[in-house]
Amino acid sequence: MARGTKHAPSCPICGKPAAAPYRPFCSKRCADVDLHRWMKGAYVIAGEAIDDETSPSPTGEMVREDAKH
Ligand SMILES: [Zn+2]
Repeated sequence: MARGTKHAPSCPICGKPAAAPYRPFCSKRCADVDLHRWMKGAYVIAGEAIDDETSPSPTGEMVREDAKH
C-alpha cells in the first residue's frame, strides 16, 4: 500500500541520494573516493607496523667521505 516509505540510502561521501549502479554511492566518483580512502587507510596501518619494527637510530654511524685519497 504505502510505497516509498523506506528512506533511500544517501551517499556516504557527499550525502546525495545513492544511484542504483553505484550503491551505496551516488556516482562512480564517490565510489572511487571511498575505495581510495580504504586503500590509503590500509596502507597507513601496514606502514606504521613496519615502521615501528625498523626504526632507525637517530645517531647512527656517520660515514664520512673525507677518508678518500
Ligand atoms: Zn556522492
